[in-house]
Amino acid sequence: MEKNKFKVVITDCDHGSIEEEKKEFDRIAAELILAQIEEEEELIRVCTDADGLLNQYALLTRKVLETLPKCKVISRYGVGVDSVDLKAATDLGIIVANVPDYCMDEVANQTIAMILTLIRKTAFFDRKVKSGEWDFHLGIPIYRTKGKTLGLIGCGKIGLEVAKRISAFGVKVMTFDPYLEKAPEGIELKDFDSVLKESNFISVHCPLNNSTRHLIGEKEFRKMEKKPLLINTSRGPIIDEKALIHALREGILSGAGLDVLETEPPDSQNPLLRMENVVLSPHVGFYSEESISELKRRTAKNVADVLTGKWPDSVVNHEVRGKTRASMSG
Ligand code: NAD
Repeated sequence: MEKNKFKVVITDCDHGSIEEEKKEFDRIAAELILAQIEEEEELIRVCTDADGLLNQYALLTRKVLETLPKCKVISRYGVGVDSVDLKAATDLGIIVANVPDYCMDEVANQTIAMILTLIRKTAFFDRKVKSGEWDFHLGIPIYRTKGKTLGLIGCGKIGLEVAKRISAFGVKVMTFDPYLEKAPEGIELKDFDSVLKESNFISVHCPLNNSTRHLIGEKEFRKMEKKPLLINTSRGPIIDEKALIHALREGILSGAGLDVLETEPPDSQNPLLRMENVVLSPHVGFYSEESISELKRRTAKNVADVLTGKWPDSVVNHEVRGKTRASMSG
């Protein structure tokens, strides 16, 4: 194949190696440049003759995109595409693609790990035993999982994976999801208040947007009747953290498992850091060696697909159809 038929630039990425990406671009004889830049003028200079971009955090504003006459596709590492001016990309005929489902298993496992850690108090006992206290009475009470109810706030790809897993523990699953027309198999579709009231465990799996910011706040905590455990592996600001801290102090909640916080990393004075019944992790839900390889390979494949005339697996700006710069088949 002709050498360097295309030029592809990775604007920035913090994963270390780019071997996965290289494999995809070798296949289509594309030159691949790892730029690691976020500054606008530098982006314009390096990307000006690029046929495609891979992007993590660097802001691809209208100003930047208007200076890239050859760019046919931008592929974002991950789900969110906030770094790209979608309207500008669409106006210019640039396809924007993402990888929405590379870490469903990982986030679902993180959620289950947090639920079990809180129920069996494993992190708590680990701290006790290592500090010389060998006494199971310290963890009383502990309850069984069988017969309890998990309420999912949002039941999309990850919520469904969590439901599948928790069912094996004899836990009943209900969900509040205003966009589901019918209940997925084995899951009861309920209104928000019923989920808050009836759940022993509540797990958040909706996206963060203007209507879900502080979706769970003081008013919602007051509706929780079963002293539930609250798990958040979605986005921190969906839960009002002040109200959460209050609910934990007042015993409205039995505990919380949080992979995400309103401010990441948390301030060292954040009371959540000192609560025995709170389990924290540093927004790690997405990560495994396999999920990152998959993310990198599929982000690159989106670009390689467009440059060879194929629609990528996941297009974000569907309005671009019919006016793409790339000549697409189908
Ligand atoms: P998804 O789009 O498949 O599912 C989201 C579900 O939320 C949909 O069914 C939608 O109808 C529902 N929803 C939307 N608004 C709602 C509302 N107001 N109330 C209740 N439900 C609502 O998304 P997914 O792949 O399941 O991912 C869920 C979230 O997980 C993502 O938005 C992301 O924030 C988070 N996430 C976190 C990590 C991590 O590392 N911790 C990794 C990946 C994703």
